[in-house]
Amino acid sequence: MPSLYIHIPFCLSKCPYCSFISYAGLNGLHQRYVDALLREAEELCRSHPVAPLSTLFLGGGTPTILSGEALAEIITACTGFFGLDHDAEISIEANPRTIDAKKLSLLRASGVNRLSIGVQSFQDQELRLLGRPHDAEDAAHALCLARNEGFTNISLDLMYGLPGQTPGSWRNTLERALSLEPSHLSLYELTIEQGTSYFQQQEQGLLQLPDDEAIADMDLITATLCREAGLAHYEISNYARPGFECRHNVNYWQNGPYLALGAGAVGCMDGCRQQKINDPLRYCEHIESGQSVIMEEECLEPAASFRETVVMGLRMLCGVSRENLQSRYGLDVAGYYEETLVHLIDQGMLELTTRHLRLTARGRMFANQVMAELV
Ligand code: SF4
Repeated sequence: MPSLYIHIPFCLSKCPYCSFISYAGLNGLHQRYVDALLREAEELCRSHPVAPLSTLFLGGGTPTILSGEALAEIITACTGFFGLDHDAEISIEANPRTIDAKKLSLLRASGVNRLSIGVQSFQDQELRLLGRPHDAEDAAHALCLARNEGFTNISLDLMYGLPGQTPGSWRNTLERALSLEPSHLSLYELTIEQGTSYFQQQEQGLLQLPDDEAIADMDLITATLCREAGLAHYEISNYARPGFECRHNVNYWQNGPYLALGAGAVGCMDGCRQQKINDPLRYCEHIESGQSVIMEEECLEPAASFRETVVMGLRMLCGVSRENLQSRYGLDVAGYYEETLVHLIDQGMLELTTRHLRLTARGRMFANQVMAELV
């Protein structure tokens, strides 16, 4: 059963490290964008009749910058168009400064059952350097509000490898996060992306980032604290209590089918990936004038799709199922990769069992290099 991703490309402010398709200061466009989304949803449903959705994910940007009423309208409309599985996972990303009890209550009433709060750090100094519009107390308060409104599946997003961050301050952030008992954690190492303000600062030597040794210490702290708290490491950057893994993202890592709506959104159905126009205003104009919003389309050959499925699946600690690959592509990793695979196994990067191919602990440290050899 497919998933649906809905992109809301608006934020309160633009974080200096962010390369996502997100824009600040476009408040005047919000309602027009919601109207355009609803029209695109109706059209997408007509062109891609699918089984009821198993997951729906509103990401961004900051989806909760929209009013609770607008978000409920989007969810209700998509539920009507596509249908929803009886136990569908409906997730929304939230910034602590953009949620209150009323909005959370409307989200719960419209079926949202998973909340992903972008916290990033529980150190106010780090949050200021990250340009985040909230402080540590806002984040803790947001989680309490969500609990009060009945959310039991709550994920926190945190970042490490930040300017000025030390293993000690990372430990403090993680301990504070775990003390709030989230069901899921997404822990991303900061990467400096071209085109961001951080990229310029780094070029000018103005960014003081932790060195490799400090990052290795942070990784160790993460592994220890998450294990002690009962959160299993199930994907390179994700940890969850049993049964609380993000089903929407697991489908993505398994290279399963997913539809997408909105500016900059990427969907993939039947091996063909489509990306929509990035600019929200142009996106609205195209929808309103009945033009296609597809900016790029790529249909992979089966062998390329096989390699992509292997590489994406290796992000998960359970690895890729050889049986699933065989039934989906008629190919096996051992026969397909031959010497490349043997070499990576000999280097201690990969483990091949009768049922799975997966990264070893050492392989996870060099995941990008390993994947580059297999893609
Ligand atoms: S809140 Fe998220 S999407 Fe928005 S600018 Fe910051 S990092 Fe980017």
